[in-house]
Amino acid sequence: MQNPHVRPARYDILFEPVRIGPVTAKNRFFQVPHCNGMGRAYPSAMAAMRGVKAEGGWAVVCTEQCDVHYSGNHLRELRLWDAKDIPVLARATEQIHGHGALAGVELAHNGSFVPNLDTRAIPIAPSATATRGNFPVTAREMDKADIRAFRRWHREAALNARRAGFDVIYVYAGHDMALPAHFLSRRHNQRTDEYGGSLENRARLLRELVEDTKEAVGDTCAVAIRLGVGTLLDTSSASPRDEAEDVLEMLAELPDLWDVNLSPFERDGQTARFAQEGFQQEYVRFAKKVTTKPVVGVGRFTSPDTMVAMIKSGTLDFIGAARPSIADPFLPKKIEEGRFDDIRECIGCNICVASDKLSVPLRCTQNPTMGEEWRRGWHPEYLPPKDTDDTVMIIGAGPAGLEAAVSLGRRGYRVLLADRERELGGRVLRESALPGLATWRRVAEWRLGQLRKLPGVQLLPGNEITAEMVLEAECSLIGVATGARWRADGVGRNHRSEIPGLADGPPVYTPEDLMAGRLPTGRVVVFDDDHYYMGGVLAELLAERGCEVVFVTPDSLVSSYTQNTAEQGAIQRRILEQCAEVRTSTTVSSVEPGGVRLGCVFTGRQTPIEADALVLVTGSLPVDGLYRELEAMEPGVLEAAGIRKVVRLGDCLGPGIIAAAVHSGHLFARTLDTGLTDWTPFRRENVELGWDQPLPPGSETLRLLAEGPNHG
Ligand code: ADP
Ligand code: SF4
Repeated sequence: MQNPHVRPARYDILFEPVRIGPVTAKNRFFQVPHCNGMGRAYPSAMAAMRGVKAEGGWAVVCTEQCDVHYSGNHLRELRLWDAKDIPVLARATEQIHGHGALAGVELAHNGSFVPNLDTRAIPIAPSATATRGNFPVTAREMDKADIRAFRRWHREAALNARRAGFDVIYVYAGHDMALPAHFLSRRHNQRTDEYGGSLENRARLLRELVEDTKEAVGDTCAVAIRLGVGTLLDTSSASPRDEAEDVLEMLAELPDLWDVNLSPFERDGQTARFAQEGFQQEYVRFAKKVTTKPVVGVGRFTSPDTMVAMIKSGTLDFIGAARPSIADPFLPKKIEEGRFDDIRECIGCNICVASDKLSVPLRCTQNPTMGEEWRRGWHPEYLPPKDTDDTVMIIGAGPAGLEAAVSLGRRGYRVLLADRERELGGRVLRESALPGLATWRRVAEWRLGQLRKLPGVQLLPGNEITAEMVLEAECSLIGVATGARWRADGVGRNHRSEIPGLADGPPVYTPEDLMAGRLPTGRVVVFDDDHYYMGGVLAELLAERGCEVVFVTPDSLVSSYTQNTAEQGAIQRRILEQCAEVRTSTTVSSVEPGGVRLGCVFTGRQTPIEADALVLVTGSLPVDGLYRELEAMEPGVLEAAGIRKVVRLGDCLGPGIIAAAVHSGHLFARTLDTGLTDWTPFRRENVELGWDQPLPPGSETLRLLAEGPNHG
């Protein structure tokens, strides 16, 4: 029989080996360094996640940034301060090598980007400067001895990285968040010595670091530069230009590899709301014109055709990926095997980025196993075969129900999946019609594509399921995934009871009304007490349809949660441009005929404003009537119908983000439950009580504790 999955020859170019200095990558798929919220706090989890990527076919798998010294301490990330940190990194390289990939490490020093709250070292920078953000910390100017010391730390870290097993060692000058990048930048570097002034001087440190690294480990390890484009603006002439091009020209043949991407991170990691696949191409295509060394770049690549175009057009040598490798660690394998419709495409939502910002293990909207590889033993491609005789009915084919059905089907369960709508997908279908959210649809599309291959799962679209129908379904396990609804009473974070006067004021709309096409006209107040994307995209929708939008939020920023998804600045800019008025730190205190009364959240000062309509984006409530009806049945009724358990999942259990619904569906498929257990259902990596060295000179206090037997 002919293999249904034969890769057309035009994709072969993606599987050519590429030499990087002394090492060779087996293909062109390159998982660039990306943060993951695990790093040094969850080392085994981080290592297992990297190992899964290697198993999925990436030729190069890098760690996140790895601090070379405690004076540039990024709390969440890896560190190689000295040889004692080697075992953590070696755990990752073992996993990566175990699947035949090269292991890369991004050596980093964050300079004035970090306040060093933990180590309390005064941050260092090319010139004295306030640190990033709102920390009351000022970085001091490095003197020559500091520069020499930094080179020493970096060289030592490179040697330790090789000892840990790495094959590719990065010098990090990207994202406007690393010392070498700060030296390159006119904004950060006002020095007048040989490390400041001309570009040649500002690039001196980067050149020295690469030379040091090559001298230390370059015989066996490839040395890469990660260079940020977009923050090296030279405004000294009439036509400002980015000096990244000149840096690359100057150091063209020095490293073994160039990793070039947009800077700062907010531009590099843009969400689908603001940038499409391949969006970095125009900014990085210069690189290959000035160097013969291989170039890796990113751009949320999920389409094999786009990848081929990147190589053939001479833009890139390696298809770099962070997010696409998170959404589908097996992306290269699937392309290699011609299984294109199995690719789980990243939707560009940056929930992964939010995990890192919030210092919790990586999570992903599309891939519920991400960050769970080690602690729960979840693999993105394989599930254990079924271990009960259940037949399962799932009511609701949103992200939770669809994920549950796919994963149960893969386990070999017979599943009925019903939804009252004719088109399956639940909230992701509705939301994908909103401005900038078209890719949300991929959450449903991928799962529906998989379900077509699972004959054990029967789809029942266009079926409103009642409790009686559940009793007659001849299923032993019932999953209720009936979703949630936005509240129409304004209850959320700011209001814990209904907003006064709602019944007497202008008409009230919920997000569901707008998504169903019931749109207000005229002057519309959008009250956002949800703080994620919904308030902002509805304001955009209404502004596009000609409404005069007054955006009101109790937070001091528009869509404040999106600081975690690295898009808040872009969202606030858009809302300021599109809305007639933006009122932050403001609540809708009450509603009255012809308008609403706004209240300052600090002073309580009231301001009446006129409005033709009020859109409430506040709290949500589970749609759990069916679940409650089944739960409330007389004892024995469910048993008589052969039902052993009824389980809520997704938004019906707890309304939240799409990633949580998908995770809940997956959890149900693996464990046949979603409830809390008396035991902790995942492994923890416990820290051993001990210390790595005796107290340094000058220490007296707590000698008792320090004199314990547990050195080393
Ligand atoms: P989640 O995010 O948890 O997956 P969604 O709101 O996206 O939730 O999906 C819930 C789905 O459940 C919707 O498509 C809705 O049409 C469907 N649904 C709700 N109640 C019923 C019911 N009684 N019978 C069939 N389908 C239902
Ligand atoms: Fe892509 Fe969203 Fe997953 Fe991140 S969380 S990898 S952006 S789908």
